[in-house]
Amino acid sequence: MAYRIGSGIDFHRLTEGRDLWLGGVQIPHYKGALGHSDADVLLHAICDALLGALCLGDIGVHFPDTDSSFKNIDSKILLQKCKDLISAKGYEVVNVDSTVCLELPKIKPFVPAMQAAIAHILTVSIDDISIKATTTEKMGFAGREEGLVAYATVLLQKK
Ligand code: MG
Repeated sequence: MAYRIGSGIDFHRLTEGRDLWLGGVQIPHYKGALGHSDADVLLHAICDALLGALCLGDIGVHFPDTDSSFKNIDSKILLQKCKDLISAKGYEVVNVDSTVCLELPKIKPFVPAMQAAIAHILTVSIDDISIKATTTEKMGFAGREEGLVAYATVLLQKK
């Protein structure tokens, strides 16, 4: 099959005393995401979309949070591993579309750096990495700044 599509979603709690990593970029904020790795919700959603496109399971299967070697790991390494998995299956990324849902901080100033970090790992152009942001109008856990969510869709094509 020439093309395969995948989708991913990820959630993390926000807590004081943690760095906030999003799209491979550290963002200054009074809270950060809690997780076994660096808890980069956007990269995790993209990892799941890549894996999903080729029916390769999910990020928890490949990088279990019971494995101490993944403790506080840079999620860019996980994204690279997922990219390697799809490359090994003979596929390459066409484009990524994603949305991060959070109340604060405003991430727009950091989007070009995130696009660059992700495009570099996936060996595509910056124009192939879409990162959108929304709030929930102060509703629910994201609106209360208790956590954040990211959604990603990827298209792969056979090399
Ligand atoms: Mg995660």
